[in-house]
Amino acid sequence: MPDKNKIGYRPTWAEVNLDNLEHNFKKIRSLLRPKTKTMVTVKADAYGHGLIPVSKRLVASGVDFLGVASIDEGIKLRKAGIKTPILVLGLTLKKDIQPLFDFCLTPTVCDEDFASALDRRAGRLNKRLAVHIKVDTGMGRIGVLHEDAFALVKKIHKLKSVIIEGIFTHFPFADLNRKFTDFQIHLFNKLVAELKKSGIIIPLVHAANSIGLIDYKDSHFTMVRPGLVIYGLHPKEGLEINLKPVLSLKTRVIFIKQVPAGYGISYGHAYITRRLTRIVTLPIGYGDGYPRNLSNLARVLIGGRRLCISGRICMDQIMVDVGRQKPKVGDEVVLIGRQGKQKITVEELAALSGTIPYEIVCGLGSRIPRIYTP
Ligand SMILES: *Cc1c(COP(=O)(O)O)cnc(C)c1O
Repeated sequence: MPDKNKIGYRPTWAEVNLDNLEHNFKKIRSLLRPKTKTMVTVKADAYGHGLIPVSKRLVASGVDFLGVASIDEGIKLRKAGIKTPILVLGLTLKKDIQPLFDFCLTPTVCDEDFASALDRRAGRLNKRLAVHIKVDTGMGRIGVLHEDAFALVKKIHKLKSVIIEGIFTHFPFADLNRKFTDFQIHLFNKLVAELKKSGIIIPLVHAANSIGLIDYKDSHFTMVRPGLVIYGLHPKEGLEINLKPVLSLKTRVIFIKQVPAGYGISYGHAYITRRLTRIVTLPIGYGDGYPRNLSNLARVLIGGRRLCISGRICMDQIMVDVGRQKPKVGDEVVLIGRQGKQKITVEELAALSGTIPYEIVCGLGSRIPRIYTP
């Protein structure tokens, strides 16, 4: 039971089970060769689960690297006392490189210009800076085009104060297109081999996101980079891997009343009662990141039953026709997670909402307090 002092005066909260996080991390690690290192991506507030508590538990569980999107996320980790190596997966403007040195963050490098700026700054500070080079083998996002990668690495290798610690690439559809992903792995392997032949050995070679890690054993290289599976979420259906969901989303009945048949509920009266019934109001809405397009569609768990949301989801409130059930004000309601024998998964909400599990958890707003168990 969450401590009321922690969640404030609106009984809506997310529970983050750090034991389950650790379970998933260990499960995933058991799929790797013993020497393969793990970077877990904790960008976007650890996929909505809370950057600091999640990262601390991962560090305690033996994660080798943390992956963030920006310098700002990296600084938050350092200020929380985390000493683990941190890779900034996204790019940084040249004018903003100083914190990389101040907070010991590892940048991603995709071109010579940026690498030289890092080298000059490092030289001036009398420091050396480890970098990871991003290679585009088919994602079409940041990264040096694979055919230009060899030349770029050679140039960066010659810089005095920049050390190439890692090289990495990313898969755009490992879940859907085996042939394309295999070809990316082939291109990346070839590049690493050519570099090796010319005397450049890069210790950290990484490519695999969650789906790559599970479905493509030859994509593990010397480090893997999962995010989603560590949070117990499935990048596609039918994966035979025992993951435990980490996040539950809960609220409490804040109001209940009886209304007659033919009564319109919420904006636009998109739901009309068919009979004399009871309508419950819940203190959560799209202002919390619960998708509005789940109106009249998603279920919530009340009294151990799956009941459909009735009418449009409002910014701060959601209504549910509970029929003959008589929940009391204060009863717990589950929007994501388990209640009795029933459960509602992030994957289920994502499918109904026409999106991916990532967007559901990342979207949960800062208005929802995260309560950590244990
Ligand atoms: C977010 C991210 C990952 C992790 O992806 P998942 O699908 O969550 O496992 C890996 N690599 C990069 C570059 C990323 O941005």
